[in-house]
Amino acid sequence: MRSKLMILLVLINFAAQAQDIFKRELGLMGSNFDITVIADSKKEAENYIDLAVVEMQRIEELISSWKSTSQTSAINRNAGLKPVQVDNELFQLIKRSIAISKITDGAFDISFAAIDKIWVFNGEETQVPDKALISSSVNAIGYKNIKLDEKNSTVFLTQKGMKIGFGAIGKGYAADKAKSLLMEKGVSGGIINASGDMNAWGLQPKGELWKVAITNPMDNSKNYGLFDLKNNAVVTSGNYEKFLLIDGERYAHIIDPRTGMPTKGILSVTVFAPKAELADALATSIFVMGSEVGLNMINQLPDVEAIIVKNDGSLATSTHINITTP
Ligand code: ADP
Ligand code: MG
Repeated sequence: MRSKLMILLVLINFAAQAQDIFKRELGLMGSNFDITVIADSKKEAENYIDLAVVEMQRIEELISSWKSTSQTSAINRNAGLKPVQVDNELFQLIKRSIAISKITDGAFDISFAAIDKIWVFNGEETQVPDKALISSSVNAIGYKNIKLDEKNSTVFLTQKGMKIGFGAIGKGYAADKAKSLLMEKGVSGGIINASGDMNAWGLQPKGELWKVAITNPMDNSKNYGLFDLKNNAVVTSGNYEKFLLIDGERYAHIIDPRTGMPTKGILSVTVFAPKAELADALATSIFVMGSEVGLNMINQLPDVEAIIVKNDGSLATSTHINITTP
């Protein structure tokens, strides 16, 4: 009996050691994603990663506002005309988006997209578009004009010129869905990194938690330290890749739905939350709300923390984050 137990223990030990970390980088949703899984072999890992990729491509087909074949595009084409019936999955995503608009007092608004053609965020100096053009687009922004009919699963944008887009929440949602699919398939640990929207689960092969380094947006070689990921998500939204300059001032690719103007004052926002979807949406919202109002909101939400780097390089954090400037 004793020797059998020994063999069993040795075998388990052997199996545990055989697990390794496998990673694939790929382009999805117009961005760079990478998927990391724990598996026994490369072949097994590749199969799992394929499943995650197919899942995220499926989501992109459903929610993308720039794919004319998506249900989101059908909703947008029918703005001011008629309600459009959609899959429950998209219906629920829109419903949750509206709930986040309410939490953030309208800072987060998927109907910001009415203005998404006016601003180009390529890091170059930009002329401020015509005021009349901005204000006519702002009139078409307003989550309260997204009418949901749960019984018929329809979505209606009541005003002409309205448009919705999931640029601030879609990648987080995709990361959540890919994670839960792989957990369901029995993958013991991994990280979905949807262009900076990271969602981790389980442990590394040696039993350690996954860790993430939050880098200083002013100097990528420095970081604010390593943070443990315990089956949660961390999302960083920054204006260092997509931004514009107006009179030499830096503006983020995030629009204030009330004014139609891009936001300024914040360089990057990192949000920790149980789900990447929520973290993604809140990180975007803080750019609009500003750091003080934004942190006030974060401090009222359970299991949500934030690190904000302002334009002058100074830091502001929620109550449970302890870091010093590197
Ligand atoms: P990224 O995905 O580039 O890391 P974010 O998650 O912060 O950045 O999302 C920015 C994107 O969100 C913009 O490119 C745009 O598509 C969309 N967006 C801009 N302003 C708003 C807003 N006020 N509410 C909701 N979505 C917005
Ligand atoms: Mg976001």
